[in-house]
Amino acid sequence: MPSTMVALKHGTALHWCALSPSAWLDRHPTIQNPEAIMREYQGRTIQELAACTCDRCKRRLTPEEPGEWQERLSFDHSCGFESVFGDGNMVSVDLCQHCVQEVLGRWLRIGPSADGDEPIGIA
Ligand SMILES: [Zn+2]
Repeated sequence: MPSTMVALKHGTALHWCALSPSAWLDRHPTIQNPEAIMREYQGRTIQELAACTCDRCKRRLTPEEPGEWQERLSFDHSCGFESVFGDGNMVSVDLCQHCVQEVLGRWLRIGPSADGDEPIGIA
């Protein structure tokens, strides 16, 4: 069950509470008629990618190995009309940087990044 946060304005004070406005007022009987319920927030759960597996070599990639994690190539592409993969299909892939280099290497355009940094070197 999601939690709710409520902001009540009383004078110059803004009170935040994790109760319903009426429950909050019941617990604070000295505050009569707050000027407004400014906002009500509802908690929610956010899913974050925590790991993936290279579709080619099956290497497990996690944020615990930041270099491998940051250099993976992952995409989800929603196909449009006349796609060779079928109209409306989804094409997805997760590849480690090593497989990207081995499979796509000869077609990759590698150069300085847009922020001006020089490439350090390519194995
Ligand atoms: Zn791989």
